[in-house]
Amino acid sequence: MAHILLLPGDGIGPEVLDATSRVLGWFTQNRNFAASTETALVGGTAFETLGTPAPDETIAKAKAADAVLFGAVGGPQWDGLAFDKKPERGLLRLRKDLELFANLRPALCFDALKDASSLRPEIVAGLDILIVRELTGGVYFGEPKEITDLPDGQKRAVDTQVYTTSEIERIARVAFELARLRGKRVASAEKSNVMVTGVLWRQVVTRVHAAEFSDVELTHILADNCAMQLVRNPKQFDVIVTDNLFGDILSDEAAQATGSIGMLPSASLGAKDPATGKQASLYEPVHGSAPDSAGQGLANPIACILSLAMALRYSFARVDDAVLLEKAVERVLAEGYRTGDIMQDGMTKVGTDGMTDAILKALAALS
Ligand code: NAD
Repeated sequence: MAHILLLPGDGIGPEVLDATSRVLGWFTQNRNFAASTETALVGGTAFETLGTPAPDETIAKAKAADAVLFGAVGGPQWDGLAFDKKPERGLLRLRKDLELFANLRPALCFDALKDASSLRPEIVAGLDILIVRELTGGVYFGEPKEITDLPDGQKRAVDTQVYTTSEIERIARVAFELARLRGKRVASAEKSNVMVTGVLWRQVVTRVHAAEFSDVELTHILADNCAMQLVRNPKQFDVIVTDNLFGDILSDEAAQATGSIGMLPSASLGAKDPATGKQASLYEPVHGSAPDSAGQGLANPIACILSLAMALRYSFARVDDAVLLEKAVERVLAEGYRTGDIMQDGMTKVGTDGMTDAILKALAALS
Protein backbone atom coordinates (compact mmCIF):
# COMPACT_ATOMS: atom_id res chain seq x y z
CA MET A 1 0.00 0.00 0.00
CA ALA A 2 1.43 3.37 -1.03
CA HIS A 3 1.55 5.93 1.74
CA ILE A 4 1.31 9.59 0.70
CA LEU A 5 1.87 12.56 3.00
CA LEU A 6 -0.19 15.66 2.17
CA LEU A 7 1.31 19.01 3.18
CA PRO A 8 -1.22 21.72 2.22
CA GLY A 9 0.69 24.68 3.71
CA ASP A 10 -0.59 28.24 3.28
CA GLY A 11 -2.67 30.48 0.99
CA ILE A 12 -3.99 28.57 -2.02
CA GLY A 13 -1.90 25.53 -0.97
CA PRO A 14 -4.82 23.86 0.86
CA GLU A 15 -7.21 24.71 -1.99
CA VAL A 16 -5.11 23.11 -4.73
CA LEU A 17 -4.16 20.16 -2.53
CA ASP A 18 -7.83 19.49 -1.66
CA ALA A 19 -8.55 19.40 -5.38
CA THR A 20 -5.61 17.02 -5.90
CA SER A 21 -6.81 14.77 -3.05
CA ARG A 22 -10.15 14.41 -4.81
CA VAL A 23 -8.32 13.32 -7.95
CA LEU A 24 -6.13 10.93 -5.95
CA GLY A 25 -9.32 9.50 -4.41
CA TRP A 26 -10.63 8.83 -7.91
CA PHE A 27 -7.53 6.76 -8.70
CA THR A 28 -7.80 4.75 -5.47
CA GLN A 29 -11.49 4.04 -6.12
CA ASN A 30 -11.41 3.44 -9.85
CA ARG A 31 -7.92 2.31 -10.83
CA ASN A 32 -6.94 -0.12 -8.12
CA PHE A 33 -4.35 2.24 -6.69
CA ALA A 34 -3.91 1.12 -3.08
CA ALA A 35 -2.89 4.32 -1.34
CA SER A 36 -3.37 5.80 2.11
CA THR A 37 -2.91 9.47 2.95
CA GLU A 38 -2.14 11.52 6.00
CA THR A 39 -2.00 15.31 6.41
CA ALA A 40 0.58 17.32 8.36
CA LEU A 41 1.42 20.95 9.01
CA VAL A 42 4.09 23.00 7.26
CA GLY A 43 4.88 26.66 6.63
CA GLY A 44 3.08 29.62 8.20
CA THR A 45 0.18 27.44 9.31
CA ALA A 46 2.60 25.19 11.22
CA PHE A 47 4.28 28.25 12.74
CA GLU A 48 0.91 29.52 14.02
CA THR A 49 0.01 26.18 15.59
CA LEU A 50 3.36 24.73 16.68
CA GLY A 51 5.73 27.71 16.67
CA THR A 52 7.88 26.37 13.84
CA PRO A 53 7.38 26.22 10.05
CA ALA A 54 9.20 22.86 9.87
CA PRO A 55 7.97 20.66 12.74
CA ASP A 56 10.05 17.57 13.54
CA GLU A 57 6.95 15.36 13.32
CA THR A 58 6.24 16.61 9.78
CA ILE A 59 9.82 15.84 8.73
CA ALA A 60 9.59 12.37 10.31
CA LYS A 61 6.30 11.68 8.51
CA ALA A 62 7.79 12.89 5.21
CA LYS A 63 10.74 10.52 5.64
CA ALA A 64 8.42 7.60 6.33
CA ALA A 65 6.07 8.33 3.38
CA ASP A 66 6.48 6.89 -0.11
CA ALA A 67 5.82 10.34 -1.56
CA VAL A 68 4.97 13.84 -0.33
CA LEU A 69 2.43 16.08 -2.05
CA PHE A 70 3.09 19.70 -1.14
CA GLY A 71 0.81 22.71 -1.72
CA ALA A 72 2.58 26.04 -1.13
CA VAL A 73 3.88 28.10 1.76
CA GLY A 74 4.23 31.77 2.56
CA GLY A 75 2.20 34.93 2.99
CA PRO A 76 2.67 38.60 3.84
CA GLN A 77 1.63 38.09 7.48
CA TRP A 78 4.86 36.13 8.04
CA ASP A 79 7.23 38.37 6.06
CA GLY A 80 8.61 40.03 9.20
CA LEU A 81 9.58 36.80 10.97
CA ALA A 82 13.19 35.78 11.63
CA PHE A 83 14.71 33.63 8.86
CA ASP A 84 14.37 30.34 10.80
CA LYS A 85 10.66 30.99 11.44
CA LYS A 86 9.71 31.99 7.89
CA PRO A 87 7.25 29.62 6.12
CA GLU A 88 9.73 28.92 3.28
CA ARG A 89 12.01 27.36 5.90
CA GLY A 90 9.55 24.43 6.02
CA LEU A 91 10.20 23.59 2.38
CA LEU A 92 13.95 24.16 2.63
CA ARG A 93 14.21 21.81 5.61
CA LEU A 94 12.23 19.13 3.80
CA ARG A 95 14.56 19.39 0.79
CA LYS A 96 17.62 19.22 3.02
CA ASP A 97 16.51 16.47 5.42
CA LEU A 98 15.12 14.25 2.67
CA GLU A 99 18.31 14.93 0.60
CA LEU A 100 16.28 15.87 -2.47
CA PHE A 101 19.14 16.52 -4.88
CA ALA A 102 17.24 16.14 -8.16
CA ASN A 103 14.69 18.72 -9.23
CA LEU A 104 12.39 17.76 -12.09
CA ARG A 105 10.62 20.45 -14.06
CA PRO A 106 8.56 19.31 -17.04
CA ALA A 107 7.63 21.77 -19.74
CA LEU A 108 4.45 20.44 -21.27
CA CYS A 109 2.40 22.45 -23.72
CA PHE A 110 -1.23 21.47 -24.05
CA ASP A 111 -2.58 22.00 -27.54
CA ALA A 112 -5.48 24.10 -26.26
CA LEU A 113 -3.05 26.57 -24.66
CA LYS A 114 -0.53 26.81 -27.48
CA ASP A 115 -1.71 30.32 -28.34
CA ALA A 116 -1.01 31.50 -24.77
CA SER A 117 2.73 30.85 -25.15
CA SER A 118 5.12 33.66 -25.97
CA LEU A 119 6.56 31.37 -28.67
CA ARG A 120 4.83 30.65 -31.98
CA PRO A 121 2.13 27.93 -31.63
CA GLU A 122 3.83 25.55 -34.07
CA ILE A 123 7.03 25.69 -32.01
CA VAL A 124 5.35 24.74 -28.72
CA ALA A 125 2.36 22.59 -29.74
CA GLY A 126 2.90 19.11 -28.31
CA LEU A 127 5.99 20.15 -26.37
CA ASP A 128 6.91 17.60 -23.66
CA ILE A 129 10.37 17.98 -22.17
CA LEU A 130 11.76 17.34 -18.71
CA ILE A 131 14.56 19.37 -17.15
CA VAL A 132 16.50 17.56 -14.43
CA ARG A 133 18.36 20.09 -12.32
CA GLU A 134 20.98 19.25 -9.68
CA LEU A 135 19.59 20.96 -6.59
CA THR A 136 21.99 20.68 -3.68
CA GLY A 137 25.46 21.43 -5.11
CA GLY A 138 27.21 23.83 -7.45
CA VAL A 139 27.72 27.54 -7.21
CA TYR A 140 24.82 28.23 -4.82
CA PHE A 141 26.51 26.21 -2.08
CA GLY A 142 30.26 26.11 -2.98
CA GLU A 143 32.80 27.63 -0.57
CA PRO A 144 34.33 30.17 -0.40
CA LYS A 145 31.30 32.37 -0.83
CA GLU A 146 32.16 35.83 0.41
CA ILE A 147 32.65 39.53 -0.17
CA THR A 148 36.03 40.79 1.06
CA ASP A 149 37.63 44.25 1.23
CA LEU A 150 40.64 44.93 -0.99
CA PRO A 151 43.52 47.24 0.08
CA ASP A 152 42.63 49.74 -2.67
CA GLY A 153 39.12 50.23 -1.20
CA GLN A 154 37.34 47.97 -3.67
CA LYS A 155 35.37 44.93 -2.67
CA ARG A 156 35.85 41.44 -4.11
CA ALA A 157 32.98 38.94 -4.35
CA VAL A 158 33.51 35.21 -4.82
CA ASP A 159 31.07 32.37 -5.50
CA THR A 160 32.54 28.93 -6.00
CA GLN A 161 31.27 26.43 -8.57
CA VAL A 162 32.13 23.00 -7.24
CA TYR A 163 31.04 19.46 -8.17
CA THR A 164 32.34 16.06 -7.12
CA THR A 165 32.21 12.83 -9.12
CA SER A 166 29.51 11.31 -6.92
CA GLU A 167 27.28 14.39 -7.13
CA ILE A 168 27.40 14.23 -10.92
CA GLU A 169 26.96 10.45 -11.03
CA ARG A 170 23.79 10.47 -8.96
CA ILE A 171 22.05 13.25 -10.93
CA ALA A 172 23.08 11.60 -14.21
CA ARG A 173 21.55 8.31 -13.05
CA VAL A 174 18.28 10.05 -12.19
CA ALA A 175 18.16 11.64 -15.65
CA PHE A 176 18.92 8.39 -17.49
CA GLU A 177 16.39 6.43 -15.43
CA LEU A 178 13.71 9.04 -16.10
CA ALA A 179 14.55 9.03 -19.80
CA ARG A 180 13.86 5.29 -19.85
CA LEU A 181 10.27 6.10 -18.78
CA ARG A 182 9.93 8.67 -21.57
CA GLY A 183 11.64 9.19 -24.93
CA LYS A 184 14.99 7.56 -23.98
CA ARG A 185 17.03 10.63 -24.90
CA VAL A 186 19.17 12.75 -22.57
CA ALA A 187 20.92 16.03 -23.40
CA SER A 188 23.55 16.98 -20.82
CA ALA A 189 24.15 20.73 -20.63
CA GLU A 190 27.30 22.32 -19.18
CA LYS A 191 30.06 24.76 -20.15
CA SER A 192 32.98 22.38 -20.65
CA ASN A 193 34.51 24.89 -23.08
CA VAL A 194 35.26 27.38 -20.29
CA MET A 195 34.65 25.69 -16.91
CA VAL A 196 36.52 22.76 -15.36
CA THR A 197 33.35 21.71 -13.52
CA GLY A 198 31.88 21.38 -17.00
CA VAL A 199 34.80 19.19 -18.11
CA LEU A 200 34.31 16.84 -15.14
CA TRP A 201 30.52 16.92 -15.64
CA ARG A 202 30.89 15.79 -19.27
CA GLN A 203 33.42 13.05 -18.39
CA VAL A 204 31.31 11.60 -15.59
CA VAL A 205 28.01 11.71 -17.53
CA THR A 206 29.74 10.02 -20.47
CA ARG A 207 31.14 7.28 -18.21
CA VAL A 208 27.84 6.61 -16.37
CA HIS A 209 26.05 6.45 -19.72
CA ALA A 210 28.51 3.96 -21.25
CA ALA A 211 28.56 1.74 -18.17
CA GLU A 212 24.89 1.65 -17.24
CA PHE A 213 22.59 3.30 -19.76
CA SER A 214 23.72 2.54 -23.30
CA ASP A 215 20.05 1.94 -24.25
CA VAL A 216 19.45 5.69 -23.76
CA GLU A 217 20.71 8.21 -26.35
CA LEU A 218 23.09 10.80 -24.87
CA THR A 219 24.10 14.12 -26.40
CA HIS A 220 26.21 16.89 -24.87
CA ILE A 221 25.28 20.52 -25.38
CA LEU A 222 26.81 23.74 -24.12
CA ALA A 223 24.41 25.44 -21.73
CA ASP A 224 24.31 28.69 -23.74
CA ASN A 225 23.42 26.79 -26.91
CA CYS A 226 20.80 24.86 -24.90
CA ALA A 227 19.20 28.19 -23.91
CA MET A 228 19.03 29.17 -27.58
CA GLN A 229 17.68 25.81 -28.72
CA LEU A 230 14.93 25.94 -26.07
CA VAL A 231 13.37 28.94 -27.80
CA ARG A 232 14.37 27.97 -31.35
CA ASN A 233 13.26 24.32 -31.42
CA PRO A 234 12.39 23.03 -27.92
CA LYS A 235 10.77 19.85 -29.25
CA GLN A 236 14.21 18.45 -30.14
CA PHE A 237 14.70 17.65 -26.42
CA ASP A 238 13.38 14.83 -24.26
CA VAL A 239 15.30 15.00 -20.94
CA ILE A 240 17.85 17.74 -20.21
CA VAL A 241 20.21 17.18 -17.27
CA THR A 242 22.20 20.09 -15.93
CA ASP A 243 23.73 21.66 -12.84
CA ASN A 244 22.08 23.85 -10.22
CA LEU A 245 22.76 27.27 -11.78
CA PHE A 246 22.10 26.39 -15.41
CA GLY A 247 19.08 24.32 -14.35
CA ASP A 248 17.61 27.26 -12.46
CA ILE A 249 17.72 29.38 -15.59
CA LEU A 250 16.93 26.78 -18.25
CA SER A 251 13.91 25.39 -16.35
CA ASP A 252 12.34 28.85 -16.05
CA GLU A 253 13.03 29.50 -19.70
CA ALA A 254 11.41 26.22 -20.75
CA ALA A 255 8.44 26.80 -18.43
CA GLN A 256 7.71 30.09 -20.12
CA ALA A 257 6.92 28.23 -23.31
CA THR A 258 3.89 26.65 -21.64
CA GLY A 259 1.97 29.73 -20.49
CA SER A 260 0.68 30.21 -16.91
CA ILE A 261 2.40 29.47 -13.63
CA GLY A 262 -0.84 27.79 -12.53
CA MET A 263 -0.06 24.96 -14.97
CA LEU A 264 3.47 23.99 -13.90
CA PRO A 265 4.18 20.89 -11.79
CA SER A 266 7.53 19.84 -10.31
CA ALA A 267 9.16 17.06 -8.36
CA SER A 268 12.24 16.72 -6.21
CA LEU A 269 13.83 13.31 -5.76
CA GLY A 270 16.45 11.83 -3.45
CA ALA A 271 18.70 8.83 -3.97
CA LYS A 272 17.16 5.40 -4.51
CA ASP A 273 17.92 2.93 -1.71
CA PRO A 274 19.58 0.04 -3.57
CA ALA A 275 18.20 -2.53 -1.10
CA THR A 276 14.55 -1.44 -0.93
CA GLY A 277 14.23 0.68 -4.09
CA LYS A 278 12.66 3.40 -1.94
CA GLN A 279 13.33 6.97 -3.06
CA ALA A 280 12.44 10.13 -1.13
CA SER A 281 10.22 12.31 -3.29
CA LEU A 282 8.30 15.55 -2.98
CA TYR A 283 5.83 16.77 -5.60
CA GLU A 284 4.65 20.37 -5.73
CA PRO A 285 3.29 23.02 -8.05
CA VAL A 286 5.90 25.58 -9.13
CA HIS A 287 3.65 28.46 -8.02
CA GLY A 288 3.58 29.95 -4.52
CA SER A 289 0.73 30.54 -2.08
CA ALA A 290 -0.88 33.35 -4.17
CA PRO A 291 -2.06 35.38 -1.15
CA ASP A 292 -3.84 37.78 -3.53
CA SER A 293 -6.43 35.14 -4.43
CA ALA A 294 -6.29 32.74 -1.47
CA GLY A 295 -9.57 31.65 0.12
CA GLN A 296 -11.69 32.63 -2.89
CA GLY A 297 -11.84 29.29 -4.67
CA LEU A 298 -10.26 30.79 -7.78
CA ALA A 299 -6.88 29.02 -7.88
CA ASN A 300 -5.97 26.88 -10.84
CA PRO A 301 -5.46 23.37 -9.40
CA ILE A 302 -3.83 21.97 -12.56
CA ALA A 303 -0.18 22.51 -11.48
CA CYS A 304 -0.83 20.52 -8.31
CA ILE A 305 -2.89 17.87 -10.12
CA LEU A 306 -0.13 17.44 -12.70
CA SER A 307 2.30 17.06 -9.78
CA LEU A 308 0.20 14.05 -8.74
CA ALA A 309 0.59 12.74 -12.29
CA MET A 310 4.36 13.01 -11.81
CA ALA A 311 4.08 11.09 -8.53
CA LEU A 312 2.09 8.33 -10.25
CA ARG A 313 4.75 8.09 -12.94
CA TYR A 314 7.96 8.47 -10.96
CA SER A 315 7.20 7.22 -7.42
CA PHE A 316 4.59 4.58 -8.13
CA ALA A 317 5.53 3.37 -11.65
CA ARG A 318 1.90 3.88 -12.73
CA VAL A 319 2.72 5.36 -16.12
CA ASP A 320 -0.70 4.50 -17.60
CA ASP A 321 -2.43 6.39 -14.78
CA ALA A 322 -0.12 9.37 -15.22
CA VAL A 323 -0.89 9.46 -18.94
CA LEU A 324 -4.62 9.13 -18.22
CA LEU A 325 -4.52 12.08 -15.83
CA GLU A 326 -2.55 14.23 -18.29
CA LYS A 327 -5.05 13.33 -21.02
CA ALA A 328 -7.95 14.29 -18.72
CA VAL A 329 -6.35 17.72 -18.17
CA GLU A 330 -5.79 18.06 -21.91
CA ARG A 331 -9.45 17.18 -22.52
CA VAL A 332 -10.92 19.76 -20.12
CA LEU A 333 -8.72 22.43 -21.66
CA ALA A 334 -9.83 21.37 -25.14
CA GLU A 335 -13.44 21.52 -23.92
CA GLY A 336 -12.83 25.16 -23.02
CA TYR A 337 -12.72 25.10 -19.21
CA ARG A 338 -10.44 27.85 -17.88
CA THR A 339 -9.56 29.27 -14.48
CA GLY A 340 -8.95 33.03 -14.38
CA ASP A 341 -5.17 32.79 -14.90
CA ILE A 342 -5.55 31.02 -18.26
CA MET A 343 -8.87 32.56 -19.34
CA GLN A 344 -9.28 33.25 -23.07
CA ASP A 345 -12.14 34.76 -25.09
CA GLY A 346 -15.08 32.45 -25.62
CA MET A 347 -14.03 29.93 -22.97
CA THR A 348 -15.93 28.78 -19.84
CA LYS A 349 -14.61 30.39 -16.69
CA VAL A 350 -14.51 28.10 -13.65
CA GLY A 351 -12.98 28.16 -10.16
CA THR A 352 -10.91 25.51 -8.38
CA ASP A 353 -13.89 23.21 -7.74
CA GLY A 354 -15.30 23.62 -11.25
CA MET A 355 -11.96 22.74 -12.84
CA THR A 356 -11.57 19.72 -10.54
CA ASP A 357 -15.12 18.52 -11.28
CA ALA A 358 -14.38 18.78 -15.00
CA ILE A 359 -11.15 16.78 -14.63
CA LEU A 360 -12.95 14.06 -12.63
CA LYS A 361 -15.62 13.89 -15.33
CA ALA A 362 -12.96 13.64 -18.02
CA LEU A 363 -11.20 10.85 -16.11
CA ALA A 364 -14.44 8.90 -15.94
CA ALA A 365 -15.06 9.44 -19.65
CA LEU A 366 -11.55 8.43 -20.70
CA SER A 367 -11.08 5.37 -18.52
P1 NAD B 1 2.89 33.16 -6.48
O1 NAD B 1 3.27 32.04 -7.37
O2 NAD B 1 2.22 32.79 -5.21
O3 NAD B 1 1.91 34.15 -7.27
C1 NAD B 1 2.31 34.88 -8.44
C2 NAD B 1 1.05 35.28 -9.23
O4 NAD B 1 0.50 34.14 -9.87
C3 NAD B 1 -0.06 35.83 -8.34
O5 NAD B 1 -0.76 36.85 -9.03
C4 NAD B 1 -0.97 34.66 -8.11
O6 NAD B 1 -2.32 35.00 -7.85
C5 NAD B 1 -0.82 33.90 -9.42
N1 NAD B 1 -0.96 32.46 -9.20
C6 NAD B 1 -0.06 31.64 -8.61
N2 NAD B 1 -0.52 30.39 -8.58
C7 NAD B 1 -1.75 30.41 -9.15
C8 NAD B 1 -2.73 29.43 -9.40
N3 NAD B 1 -2.56 28.13 -9.05
N4 NAD B 1 -3.89 29.80 -9.99
C9 NAD B 1 -4.10 31.06 -10.34
N5 NAD B 1 -3.19 32.06 -10.15
C10 NAD B 1 -2.03 31.73 -9.56
O7 NAD B 1 4.21 34.00 -6.21
P2 NAD B 1 4.44 35.28 -5.28
O8 NAD B 1 3.25 36.18 -5.33
O9 NAD B 1 5.76 35.81 -5.67
O10 NAD B 1 4.60 34.70 -3.80
C11 NAD B 1 3.51 34.62 -2.86
C12 NAD B 1 4.00 33.84 -1.64
O11 NAD B 1 4.31 32.50 -2.05
C13 NAD B 1 5.28 34.41 -1.02
O12 NAD B 1 5.15 34.31 0.38
C14 NAD B 1 6.37 33.49 -1.54
O13 NAD B 1 7.47 33.42 -0.67
C15 NAD B 1 5.64 32.18 -1.60
N6 NAD B 1 6.20 31.20 -2.55
C16 NAD B 1 6.15 29.91 -2.16
C17 NAD B 1 6.59 28.93 -3.01
C18 NAD B 1 6.46 27.50 -2.56
O14 NAD B 1 5.76 27.23 -1.60
N7 NAD B 1 7.08 26.57 -3.24
C19 NAD B 1 7.05 29.25 -4.30
C20 NAD B 1 7.06 30.59 -4.68
C21 NAD B 1 6.62 31.58 -3.80
